[in-house]
Amino acid sequence: MEKQFSYLKENFEVLSLSDAISQCESSSSLVFQKKPIVSLTIDDGYRDFYEICFPLLKKYQFPATFYVATDFVGQGIWLWHDKLKWIIDNSGDISESFVVEGREYNQEYWRDNKAKLWRELVSVMLRMSGDEIEDLLDRISFITKAQPCTSPVPEYSSVSWSELREMQDNGVSIGGHTKSHYSLGHLSEVEVKAQVTGCRDHLNQELGRQSRHFCFPNGQPADITELAKSEVQNAGFETAVAAYYDRNGINDRFSISRHGVGENWFGFLKSIWGIDRLGAQILDRNSKFDWGQV
Ligand SMILES: [Zn+2]
Repeated sequence: MEKQFSYLKENFEVLSLSDAISQCESSSSLVFQKKPIVSLTIDDGYRDFYEICFPLLKKYQFPATFYVATDFVGQGIWLWHDKLKWIIDNSGDISESFVVEGREYNQEYWRDNKAKLWRELVSVMLRMSGDEIEDLLDRISFITKAQPCTSPVPEYSSVSWSELREMQDNGVSIGGHTKSHYSLGHLSEVEVKAQVTGCRDHLNQELGRQSRHFCFPNGQPADITELAKSEVQNAGFETAVAAYYDRNGINDRFSISRHGVGENWFGFLKSIWGIDRLGAQILDRNSKFDWGQV
């Protein structure tokens, strides 16, 4: 990660999300911009952000936005998809077959398809309400006899409010990521409102009232409905981000598209430069582009 930070320091202007958007919207300032702009955003609220990323952000003096699911932080509960992963990883045989959305999960399937069970069940559960998700988790936990503790194991644990306060005082903007990390695309209007405003109120109560950004859980088009966008806007959030990239970029402040950080060095370069600029740099013999790193 430090190699990426060092590369960004040399080649990019790393701005807070608010500053990046106002710079992009003010076309005149872009003309004078010496380096391209990058804004760092990180989702969920896991503790490893505080332990690994925050020290580097301070060292390089980079601002960032950290989106947290407020029940995950405040109540020390599992994010539901982590709980499912833990149950699958820690289960043996299942005591009876069960059916989820037409697919039967029998003993044989459960035993032989561990690697894809999580992905498969998460994709189904993303289309469920919060109560349905929790009921299914309880059912799977009972059938598999894998009983997770009330609070998550260390690898799935969250930051604390005091760590968030410390980060907020040191250049990290703390944003909203709902209360429970359910997809907002499949909840009722009442539930969407409760997830968005409940998250906002909890952030304000613990960290003080200020302008904040929002991030849609799962962040795919099906998770970002017009209802969800308007609830986020009505709740007073400044912007909202998706978890995919398209050519709309920042055109819609309430579904700003994002690049993932990439799974290797080439993926990272492709994300921060964009494929067109990266290709032009690779082809330009006079460019200072570091071939060895690709
Ligand atoms: Zn998330």
